[in-house]
Amino acid sequence: MTDPNQPTYDLILSGGTVLDPASGLNARRDVAIRGDRIAAIDTGLSAPGAKVVDCTGSTVVPGLVEGHSHIFEQVSKVGAPADEAHLRRGVVAVADAGTAGASTFAAFQRVVVEGNAMRVVNFLNVSVLGLIDFRFGELLNPDTLVVDDALEVAAANPDVVRGFKIRLSEDVVGPNWMSLLKKSIELAEQARLPLMVHIGETEEPLPVVLEQLRPGDIVAHCYTGKPHGILDDDKVLAQVLEARERGVLFDSAHGRSNLSFNVARQAIACGFLPDILSSDTSARNWRGPVFDLVTSIAKLVALGAPLDECIRRATVAPAELLGLAGEGYGRLEVGGRADVTVLTETSEVELPDASGNVITAPRLEPTTVVHEGALVETTPWRGEATA
Ligand SMILES: [Zn+2]
Repeated sequence: MTDPNQPTYDLILSGGTVLDPASGLNARRDVAIRGDRIAAIDTGLSAPGAKVVDCTGSTVVPGLVEGHSHIFEQVSKVGAPADEAHLRRGVVAVADAGTAGASTFAAFQRVVVEGNAMRVVNFLNVSVLGLIDFRFGELLNPDTLVVDDALEVAAANPDVVRGFKIRLSEDVVGPNWMSLLKKSIELAEQARLPLMVHIGETEEPLPVVLEQLRPGDIVAHCYTGKPHGILDDDKVLAQVLEARERGVLFDSAHGRSNLSFNVARQAIACGFLPDILSSDTSARNWRGPVFDLVTSIAKLVALGAPLDECIRRATVAPAELLGLAGEGYGRLEVGGRADVTVLTETSEVELPDASGNVITAPRLEPTTVVHEGALVETTPWRGEATA
């Protein structure tokens, strides 16, 4: 006989430390799930017939939100597999950062947005071509920045287009970088959306770029080891701190060539954490050195960033930036989305950055991933295979 007073749950994540930066909860709790909703967050939860996952010793966080990735693999040589490198590694919502441009957006919508279980949004590349192939800069022909085309796609797809992206590296924009940046900011202003600006090998020092940016615009690759980064010797540039003060955001966006442990360690020691902690996963790096978002988090933790601050920057912070907080992403709450990632610290391994350095530190492994109330089949870390 079933006791009518006994709660009914489908799944209980039992005994882990629940870390939810949105609410400030950081304590040992059980998380009970019914259907696609969180039914309870409390101690001592049980229900007859519920599947119980023992999370003792692990950290239970909201389903991760990846603020910068590349997942348009069907059209772009840059795209990583969406499911394998994201959902199966604990990410439930993802922003593609400029792989699609206005001319390829329809395919992006059909294949990536509609074709994935994850919630997908994007930063639309200001070049109509998008980022098809790393070998050929998408803005070397400046005429590919067609304001009307970008505006039209953004206006017609407000549920997906959450900003624009320009890559300012010299090999992408050539000598026209300032006029292209100004045109991109005008475009973003007209659409009332943020502009994400990729730095690393820009022609001019970073302060010249920062001067142009508006509050809410995003600097991607803030820990790049390439010339014209955020550091001046061992200090964060005053102009970088001033830009942050007036609302310019900084995204870590690891990528194949834009995370230097030396820069990150120094910046973290100065108290400079990224506003958004993202992986910039792509076809070139998802088998290493980036691997995935959880490994990007583990690297910054190993360099001294507090775990709760890192989780905030990979859950509620990007959810708010991307307009996904209203859909319940990035937080754990009773009645909210049953999207949960359970992170378990591994033994120490060698973790590479993008500048040829290695640290020995524990990884974070997404040992259990729940998406819309259902357990996701996870994939193993790619690192050992390539070691
Ligand atoms: Zn990127």
